[in-house]
Amino acid sequence: MNPDDPTVAPSLKSWVESANTADSHFPIQNLPYGVFKPSADAAARVGVAIGDQIVDLSYLEQAGLLRTPRPLFSASSLNAFMACGRDTWRSVRARLSTLLAAGTATLRDDAAARARVLVPQASATMLLPVEIPGYTDFYSSKEHATNVGALFRDPKNALLPNWLEIPIGYNGRASSVVVSGTPVRRPNGQIKLPNQERPVFSPCLKLDFELETGFFVGVPNGMAEPVACADAESRIFGMVLLNDWSARDLQAWEYVPLGPFNAKGFATTISPWVVTMDALAPFRTRQPRQDPEPLAYLRHDGPHAFDIHLEVALRPQGGEAATIARTNFKYMYWTMAQQLAHHTVSGCNTRVGDLMGSGTISGPDQGSYGSLLELTANGKQPVDIGGATRAFIEDGDEVTLTGWCQGQGYRVGFGQCTGTILPALPIAG
Ligand code: MN
Repeated sequence: MNPDDPTVAPSLKSWVESANTADSHFPIQNLPYGVFKPSADAAARVGVAIGDQIVDLSYLEQAGLLRTPRPLFSASSLNAFMACGRDTWRSVRARLSTLLAAGTATLRDDAAARARVLVPQASATMLLPVEIPGYTDFYSSKEHATNVGALFRDPKNALLPNWLEIPIGYNGRASSVVVSGTPVRRPNGQIKLPNQERPVFSPCLKLDFELETGFFVGVPNGMAEPVACADAESRIFGMVLLNDWSARDLQAWEYVPLGPFNAKGFATTISPWVVTMDALAPFRTRQPRQDPEPLAYLRHDGPHAFDIHLEVALRPQGGEAATIARTNFKYMYWTMAQQLAHHTVSGCNTRVGDLMGSGTISGPDQGSYGSLLELTANGKQPVDIGGATRAFIEDGDEVTLTGWCQGQGYRVGFGQCTGTILPALPIAG
C-alpha cells in the first residue's frame, strides 16, 4: 500500500463541513460506498458517505465528472463497480477525494450542482450494498474459540487441535443477509432440553448476536485457481460490520457433525457502508504472533491486521442503549488474507460480491467478548443494561454494532449495524 496515498492524508479537509468534525465516521479520508434511495419513490443508486451527507455518484457520472470504463453507478448494487478491479477503485477514489477537497471549486462553488449531488443521510434509505452470491463465516478469534470451547466442551482442552492450523469456517446463507435497520424475526426450531429425551419445537430461547466484520471479494478466482496468501488482500473490495445472529439452543442440538444450519441461516445483518481497503490502509497493524507457524500456503509477510475499535450496544424496547462490549479487530488470530487463501486452496472459486465473515471478535478480557454467550457464560451471569439485565436477547431488543479507526483528529468509521428482534411466528397446535 502506498504510504504517500494523498486520499488518506490526515490534514485533508472537505468543503462538506460536517465531514471535518473529530467524531464524524465519514471524513474525506474514508469515502465508503453504499447503495441508497434519495426518497421512497426514487431509483436506487450508488453513493459515497461524506459527513452527514451522501454523494450521489449516478449524478456525478451523468454530469461527466467521473471517468469510468462504463456506466457503473445508476445501479442497485456495487457489483459492477467491484468487478472493474483495483485500478478503477483507486481512480474513482482519487477523483472523489479531489472533487470533495476543501480547495476544489468544481462542486463547492456550484450551488445548483451541489443541491443535486448531496443527499442528507437523514432523508435517504440505505439498501443492501452488494448482491451477495455467497456468504462464508469464519471462526478466527482465538479468544472466542477458546471461550466457546470451554463453555461447550472442556475448559482444559478448549481449543481443538485443528484450530491453530486452519482458519475454520462454514458456508453460510447469502439469501438472508440484510442491511442494517431490517427487523429480524426470532427463529423457531428444534431445541433439546436437558431433562427430555426428544427435542421440542419452540421459539429460540437463547438468541444471541455475534460482533463481526465482513469483507467483500471484488476480484474473484476461478475453479482450481487458488488465491495466494500474498495476493489475497488486493482482491478485497472493502469491509462492513456484520452481526451474525445466532440461535444458541438450536445450534447446540443441530451442529454435530456438519456445523451450524438453522441456528445461523435465519438472518445476518451488515452495515450499509463498505469501507475500502485503501481507506483502512493507514490503520494496518501487526496480527498476533502465530504459533505454530502456519503451513506455507497460509504465510504472508508484514502486518495484515487492522486497528478497528468495535462496540456493541443493546437497547431494550422503549429504553436506553447500553454498551455491553468493546473490542478490536486487531485481536483476530487469522487474517482476512489467510481466510481467502484457505477458502480457495482446494480449488473453490469465489464470485464478485462474495461475503466473508470474520467470526465473532472477542478480546482478552470479559468486557471485550463479542457475544452474549461469552459475556453471560451461556446465560449464567446476565449482563447489566442499566436498570435491567440480559442473559440473551429478548423480543423488542435492538442490537447495534459500531466501529471506527482512530486517526489524528479524525475517525474512519463504519457507521452502525443495527437490528431489532420481532417475536417468533406463532407455533400451530
Ligand atoms: Mn459467526
